[in-house]
Amino acid sequence: MPRHDLIIVGAGPVGMTLALALKDSGLDILLVDARARGAARHDPRVLALSHGSRLTLERLGIWPQLQATPIETIHISQQGRLGRSLLTAADYGLPAMGYVVAAGNLAAALDDALAAAGIPIQGDSPVSSLTAGADNVTLKLADGTLEARLVACAEGSIQGSDAPELVERDYAQHAVISVATPVEGHAHRAWERFTPQGPLAVLPCGSDCAIVHTASPAEADALMAEGDDAYRARLQAHFGERLHFASVGPRARYPLLLRYRPDPVGPRTVWLGNAAQTLHPVAGQGYNLALRDVWALAQVLLRADGDPGAPDTLARYASERRLDRQGTIRFTDGLVRLFSNAITPLAHARGAGLFALDLLPPARHFVAKRMMFGARAWP
Ligand SMILES: Cc1cc2nc3c(=O)[nH]c(=O)nc-3n(C[C@H](O)[C@H](O)[C@H](O)COP(=O)(O)OP(=O)(O)OC[C@H]3O[C@@H](n4cnc5c(N)ncnc54)[C@H](O)[C@@H]3O)c2cc1C
Repeated sequence: MPRHDLIIVGAGPVGMTLALALKDSGLDILLVDARARGAARHDPRVLALSHGSRLTLERLGIWPQLQATPIETIHISQQGRLGRSLLTAADYGLPAMGYVVAAGNLAAALDDALAAAGIPIQGDSPVSSLTAGADNVTLKLADGTLEARLVACAEGSIQGSDAPELVERDYAQHAVISVATPVEGHAHRAWERFTPQGPLAVLPCGSDCAIVHTASPAEADALMAEGDDAYRARLQAHFGERLHFASVGPRARYPLLLRYRPDPVGPRTVWLGNAAQTLHPVAGQGYNLALRDVWALAQVLLRADGDPGAPDTLARYASERRLDRQGTIRFTDGLVRLFSNAITPLAHARGAGLFALDLLPPARHFVAKRMMFGARAWP
């Protein structure tokens, strides 16, 4: 039976990033994915990456391959209410608060880097079960079995999984994503607009704006069914005179939920990315958090002597990541629950909160640093 030091299940952005971070480790690594190799290159999402993520992707050598659009300011507001806040990169002595990258561009850069490093990706190979023993994990595939001393599960968010260890909150929201062309240009500003139906984000992406429009499942049906002109007008109505859109392209949708494993490790197994925590995209934290997890795991494995799946190695990783994981999950969940409703006292409190954010530098710095570096202002 083929035996590897590390098998990574899932060649999405997270699994591929882990493999790349370990390319000089001397470990025998194999990635397996249910889809054909390269499928992630067609991911239509865009990702807002923090300044900390940029530093990590530079260390991994793929930043120059990314067509990243800098975010210089972030405008946060709520529709129909007073209160707004503006976060500005110049206040932190940085060129940008973050960057916007097409998920397909990121996947292509990772895939190319793995090919150059000679790390194999086995496509069309869904893993149907894992069985952990004392020294190995056995992975069952359609056409046989594999063995590894450590398995990293990066297979994304499994719909319909009823594993008892998962904590789940269904937000009853879907994200409808699209790309819109602004009339006056975006001036490298990101907008986070809280509406009673859910948050609406506009991100600068090349010369266009990427839209992440949150709505109830029924409203999302309507948003998907609308013609381009009607949808553009609806989008416009959310922004009034602040921002004008000339046209909007095709839409895609994603159901949104919080689903996470309180403990990201098990016997000879570690869960990463959406498989460890699937977050609402409200603050763009999913891949950013996953990247911090991946980097920390790679450093732990590089320092480990011998067996990469040893319990104390995995325990060290879980302990190092506890604070940031919990903080980011709570921050994201708190934002969704506070802002996704029309209850009047809460709306006033939110308005006051946004004013406070603008007037109180420590509160603003807390939010800005979390956006730029994560819970521990890492790295
Ligand atoms: C609308 C939206 C906007 C977002 N915006 C941002 C943002 O701005 N910033 C940010 O940081 N994050 C954002 N995110 C989150 C980000 O997209 C995720 O964190 C990231 O894509 C997770 O990557 P992953 O590799 O864990 O999972 P996936 O991308 O789902 O990849 C999983 C891979 O595993 C494979 N697989 C599945 N099952 C199996 C199996 N049984 N065997 C083998 N392979 C398998 C799949 O084929 C796939 O290739 C957003 C998410 C959404 C929905």
